[in-house]
Amino acid sequence: SPALARAEGLIREIPDYPQPGILFRDITPLLADAEALRATSEALIAPFAGQFDVIAGIEARGFLLASAAAIVAGTGMVPVRKAGKLPQPAVTIDYALEYGTATIEMHADLEPGTRVLVIDDVLATGGTVAATLEMLEHLGYPVCGTSVLFEIEGLGGREKVDDHPLHTVFRND
Ligand code: 5GP
Repeated sequence: SPALARAEGLIREIPDYPQPGILFRDITPLLADAEALRATSEALIAPFAGQFDVIAGIEARGFLLASAAAIVAGTGMVPVRKAGKLPQPAVTIDYALEYGTATIEMHADLEPGTRVLVIDDVLATGGTVAATLEMLEHLGYPVCGTSVLFEIEGLGGREKVDDHPLHTVFRND
C-alpha cells in the first residue's frame, strides 16, 4: 500500500551506531508519523488475525510497536523486559549475544492458554526473539508467531526462530 511504502521510507539508516560497522535502523521517524504508525501496526498483525489474545512486546522499541498494534487488534500487551526492571519477574532467561550474554524477564500472570503474538522492531541475529519464544514456551503459553517490523537478512535470524511462523514487514533487499 502507499502508506506502507511511505512508512518504509521513514526508517532512517544511521551508519556506525552503536558501534563502528553497524548500520542502525532508526524507526523514530516512522513512529512520529500518524499514517505510517497506523499502517505498520495493521501490517504487523494482519497475518495473525484471530490467532492471538495478547501481544508480547520486547524492550524497548518492541514496546512501542506492540502497544500500537494491540490497540488496533483490540488486545492488551505484555512487556518482555531486560533484566532487573520488573517488580516480580516470574521467569528469567539468559541468551547469547554476539559478545557476551543478555537476560530477559517477564511476568507470568496471563490466564493459562492465552495465545501470544511476539512483536519487536528489528530482527538481526534472532537471539532476542528466540529467547522470548523459549520463555513463552517454558511458561506454557501458546505462541501463534512473531511479527517484526524490519528484518536484517543474512544474519541467520530467520533460521533461528523458524520453529514458529515469522512475519516481517520490511527487509533489506
Ligand atoms: P538480535 O537479537 O536479533 O540480534 O537483535 C535484535 C534486537 O536488537 C532487537 O530487540 C532490536 O531492537 C535490536 N536491534 C538490533 N539491530 C538493530 C537496528 O539496526 N535497529 C534497531 N532499531 N534495533 C536493532
